[in-house]
Amino acid sequence: MKLLLATRNNHKLREIKQIFSFPGLELYTPDDMPGLPEVVETGETFEANAVLKAVTLARAGGLWTMADDSGLEVDALHGAPGVRSARFAGEPPDYSANNRKLLQSLRGIRERQARFRCVIALSDPLGRARTVEGICAGCIATEPRGHNGFGYDPLFIPEGYERTFAEMSAAEKNRISHRARALAAARQAWSAIFLAGGSETDLSPSPGEGKP
Ligand code: IMP
Repeated sequence: MKLLLATRNNHKLREIKQIFSFPGLELYTPDDMPGLPEVVETGETFEANAVLKAVTLARAGGLWTMADDSGLEVDALHGAPGVRSARFAGEPPDYSANNRKLLQSLRGIRERQARFRCVIALSDPLGRARTVEGICAGCIATEPRGHNGFGYDPLFIPEGYERTFAEMSAAEKNRISHRARALAAARQAWSAIFLAGGSETDLSPSPGEGKP
């Protein structure tokens, strides 16, 4: 089955390809299919943006398409940066500036609980989509540590650990991350579609699907 991954973020693509494989599954990216539209993320939720990306590229490319929308929610900031994680410090998106702004926003604050959330949408070529979600809880460090990963990884310490995501190997992060959990949920919910080579066209949600 041919599956288009609707993201141009090479860090995300690498993680998804490291985690997600199925017998007979051929993964494509927008770089393999020139002419696909750029999707502006206008949604107010991860779910809306994931569906928008998956449906737009599935219709344009004529392939089953999977999209990830993800970000960081910090309790003391009432869930920010949330869907604006990529552009927390403004345009153009800048990981270091975002991390500096996050540290500044939390200066002097002891309550540093946060979570990464990832919603994955799968659309058939006609634009009928469903979603699953993965969450990784943790807290925000007081200074950046580590050089692996991307985005907020140098500031995020997952629950049960003392190291940040950026201090972990890719394999270690990929065992516990929000993206790994969402991909595990995708595999569980949609294996019949992936194994049937995308011929399953009934995308009405099954009970309980889409819950974390
Ligand atoms: P999106 O492309 O709108 O989904 O943007 C997601 C943004 O959330 C990224 O640019 C990062 O800032 C942040 N983010 C999502 N997943 C991760 C992760 O695994 N590590 C660090 N930052 C992440």
